[in-house]
Amino acid sequence: MLKKFTGNLSQKEKSLKELYKLIFENGSVSKGDLIKLTGMRQTTCTRLIDELLVSGLIKECGYGESSGGRKPLMYEINKNINYVIGIDISRTYTKILLMDLSFSIIAQAKFKMNETTTPDVTIDLIISHINKMMKLYQLTKDDILGIGIGTIGPLNREKGIIINPNNFPSDGWENIKICERLNDVLQLHTILEYGANTALLAEYSQEPFNQFRNVIHVIKGTGTRTGIIMDGRLVLGTDKLSSLGQGHMIVDLYGRKCSCGSNGCINAYSSISAMKNDIIDAIQQGAPSLITNKVSNIEDIDFNDICQAVNDGDPLSTRIVQNAAYYTGVGLANLAQVLFPDLIILSGPTYTNMELFYDVVTSTASKRCEKMYSNQRIIFSRGQLGENATAIGAGRIVLEHFLADSASNGTLNKLYI
Ligand SMILES: [Zn+2]
Repeated sequence: MLKKFTGNLSQKEKSLKELYKLIFENGSVSKGDLIKLTGMRQTTCTRLIDELLVSGLIKECGYGESSGGRKPLMYEINKNINYVIGIDISRTYTKILLMDLSFSIIAQAKFKMNETTTPDVTIDLIISHINKMMKLYQLTKDDILGIGIGTIGPLNREKGIIINPNNFPSDGWENIKICERLNDVLQLHTILEYGANTALLAEYSQEPFNQFRNVIHVIKGTGTRTGIIMDGRLVLGTDKLSSLGQGHMIVDLYGRKCSCGSNGCINAYSSISAMKNDIIDAIQQGAPSLITNKVSNIEDIDFNDICQAVNDGDPLSTRIVQNAAYYTGVGLANLAQVLFPDLIILSGPTYTNMELFYDVVTSTASKRCEKMYSNQRIIFSRGQLGENATAIGAGRIVLEHFLADSASNGTLNKLYI
């Protein structure tokens, strides 16, 4: 029935949708509160609540606090009436989550992205995993509300196209009509969004993060991606920032040459390949390092070797990671002094797998912002949802789509501006 909340709605259907949305947003709510929030007459509200109960969209969930008289009966959404699928397609892996309407994970699948995962292979694998999940849980396409995808830009969200993301390990990631292709086979409504935004949306729905008004979320792995919430709303229209993070922010006027042609960009110091190249150069010039025990050819070191070496206390790797984190922290301070966030969430492999990188970035950014923030301080966090954040948020945008005031093909949410 949730799918009926789209298209041209009668006045009664609009009222049912409004009530359902308020119950979803509030978690659990009494009839009295719903009357206050909507301005509906008591008889109308009672009749509509009964209709939502009979349809199975909502259910009773015990009694709330009394404000004098009898304790009020509370209502919540029925989280098992429909399901959503959230997908995170990144440069290193693709993750697929089947979730109920409270975004609890029912089933999950993950595969690595490598030189063989062309768009055709990736789409086939996604379809195969979704079919397996639906079969395992005996779900039909009517049970699934839709599919949300959080991925790397640039994107054409309205048309559901991945345009030409950099640094995918396989060839062929150009102008991929991913929503159309999944919809053709699975016949499920599919929505595309920047992964940085879906991850932020998922994190921002968690306590206590939902108490903050201004939040920046940076995902740092092979590339850097950034999502922003200002005054409680997810900022759309920042496509370049969603795709590139602030990786080309200049932190040293006469610094290193960057791949973009400029000098002194954050990426020139702190991308994984920049750190790797620094370590290789130093070793080739004779610097001792534990990392030489890991590989027979030093050119073969990868991100995991660097993390391991830092965690083992290798002085060379530690110095290079500290330096990379310092420049990143300076860049983050610059961004903070434009947006003045209350909370900065730092996630992705670079922050998650290297305590040292996270510590140096946060202490550098804090110190540089100290005066501007006066008595306040920025709160830093690695987030609460870890690697699942992007896919959970992607599932969330599907439900948000059905609850938007006028559902169409885009991502529609009161959080969006
Ligand atoms: Zn650059």
